[in-house]
Amino acid sequence: MENIYYLLKRHWGYDTFRPLQAELINSVLEGRDTLGLMPTGGGKSIVFQVAGLALGQLTIVISPLVSLMKDQVDNLKAHHIQAVYFHSGMTPAEHRLAWEKIVNNRARFIYCAPERLANQRFIGELRMLHPTLLVVDEAHCISQWGYDFRPSFMNIRNLRKILPDIPILALTATATPEVAEDIRRQLDFRKGNRTFQMSFTRPNISYLVDKADIKIAECGRLLMRSDGSSIVYVRSRKRTQEISEYLNIIGISSTFYHAGLDNEIKTLRQNEWKSGKIRVMVATNAFGMGIDKPDVRIVIHYDMPPSLEEYYQEAGRAGRDGKSAYAILLYNPADKGKLRRDLTREFPSRKDILRIYDRVSNFLNISIGEGYDKVYPFDLDLFLTTFHEASNIVLPALRILGRAGYLEYIDERTNVSRVKICIDRNELYHVKGISPLADQVIQKILRLYTGLFTEYVNIDELKISRELQADTEEVYKCLLELAKMKVISYIPKKRTPFIYIPTSREDLRYVVIPRSIYEERRKKLEHRIESMIEYADVSGSCRVKRMLKYFGEPHPADCLQCDVCRQRHSSLKKDGRSIYQVNKEVVDFLRSYPEGIQIDMFNSYFNSSLGMAQEVLRILEDRGYLEIICESVNTPHHKNYSIRLRPDLTKM
Ligand code: ADP
Ligand code: MG
Repeated sequence: MENIYYLLKRHWGYDTFRPLQAELINSVLEGRDTLGLMPTGGGKSIVFQVAGLALGQLTIVISPLVSLMKDQVDNLKAHHIQAVYFHSGMTPAEHRLAWEKIVNNRARFIYCAPERLANQRFIGELRMLHPTLLVVDEAHCISQWGYDFRPSFMNIRNLRKILPDIPILALTATATPEVAEDIRRQLDFRKGNRTFQMSFTRPNISYLVDKADIKIAECGRLLMRSDGSSIVYVRSRKRTQEISEYLNIIGISSTFYHAGLDNEIKTLRQNEWKSGKIRVMVATNAFGMGIDKPDVRIVIHYDMPPSLEEYYQEAGRAGRDGKSAYAILLYNPADKGKLRRDLTREFPSRKDILRIYDRVSNFLNISIGEGYDKVYPFDLDLFLTTFHEASNIVLPALRILGRAGYLEYIDERTNVSRVKICIDRNELYHVKGISPLADQVIQKILRLYTGLFTEYVNIDELKISRELQADTEEVYKCLLELAKMKVISYIPKKRTPFIYIPTSREDLRYVVIPRSIYEERRKKLEHRIESMIEYADVSGSCRVKRMLKYFGEPHPADCLQCDVCRQRHSSLKKDGRSIYQVNKEVVDFLRSYPEGIQIDMFNSYFNSSLGMAQEVLRILEDRGYLEIICESVNTPHHKNYSIRLRPDLTKM
């Protein structure tokens, strides 16, 4: 077994592990089933990648999003580690190619979308490869009670059954104690399993709830008074645009983002925001997954998300660089009613659900007894107009049908196009009848990408059109033209979502929507929503403390930075300084002594507000942020202590 520090250094160039990384890896190397709860950006990927490499053979990684899988596979390749991925949207040819790569290139990691695991043959083939580790990323998706349940995650159990003896490593950024328990149970964790939980505290983020009657004005005011990159989260696509326009009018540069935009536009806007060219991104929750921008200073929630899990995830995109940042929830008591109504809408009547099952099956031309393990492109808009259905009933109904295992609606447009050149290089120069622009396009592709003659290569139409200073739509037409002439094979980005049928179509009489996914689930959702409402609505105690309790942290302390704490402590002002300010001074002071500082020196520095400074130290210690080093005893009655912030906090 190779040394894990060596692997970390050799492949990633890092010298040290982040908190919990080594613990998780070692637990897996001991052969234990392991659950790791680590906040976003904590470095979960490296945990399973190093563990997989250390075990020496093949690792199977189950991951919910094709785009995330693709990123990771590219990333591993950049570090000279072979990896492939499988998902349901692949063509048979792509599928074959992936298997060839596994065999020829000795892939060390296979990423796999969970719906593939419904196929017994596929999992049989996986077993033949003798994997030594099974990883479940974003593991909260397996729990019905998680905020992001994906029915096909249940299929992981199939794989677990035929690979009962290899360790499972499950990782997630958010899991309440209940969900953590569910993950362990669903994945059949064996005896001796271990769970590691990193504190969810983000000491540099101030969480504020801002009671605002006119949200748009308040949002503008907040952004006006501050600077630095920001995200404004809204729950409606239309409003992303409205708010963004308003901000631009009042002189704050902003753009907007939601799932309904073209991929080119999304990429463009994302890049403009990431590079700092545009300051504020107004977005739905479609924005953020996998976006790693360290210097976001403010995350404003214009609308309340339906759970603290989501709130924490989205707000947590602020301040990844460890510098001070704000998470602000704009709250109006009327928001409560809206969330509760949304909940009611999530549960159409059983009659509606059955009707939609029937209609979707007809729409896709699936007869009773057919459809098992097949994928169908599904044009939602066409479906809605054909049957005069409303999306606010159809989508929730599809989600429930998904949970019940009848069909799964997957609205994830793969965001890459692929091209392969079908003729050889010499022929290419002698093809007749290519339009001038198409000729330029093919030349540009040859210059930008390699390997085109042997396999499908991911291309980016936007980049090509930019380099050629041509319109993207024109470039797209050229690619189609070249494909028609059989010069290239072109797989454009998929524009329609699809439906996956895990089980053959049933006669309506036998379709069962169990209580566990209707009534019981509804209760759980209610609890989640009420916890979110309580966070915003109740201001009797530290908000962060309540949030951390919800996430199952044993003894959270007051954060001293949320609006409730600020208000409470502003009354404790002494020589004009609040405990909040003293807290900041203490932390900054300790940061400037990463090696530690003697307590005597600390005391004399904070002489004028010693009481508060010591109170802050007690709280920091309580929360595990402080290390106390007892130095050699020089005189019998005088022990000399040094204190310092935990090293990983100093660096943040
Ligand atoms: P998560 O999946 O937990 O949200 P990622 O795995 O995407 O987080 O990691 C976030 C970032 O942290 C990545 O850029 C990764 O390279 C970096 N990272 C992870 N582990 C380490 C480490 N030990 N030292 C330095 N950087 C690390
Ligand atoms: Mg991750």
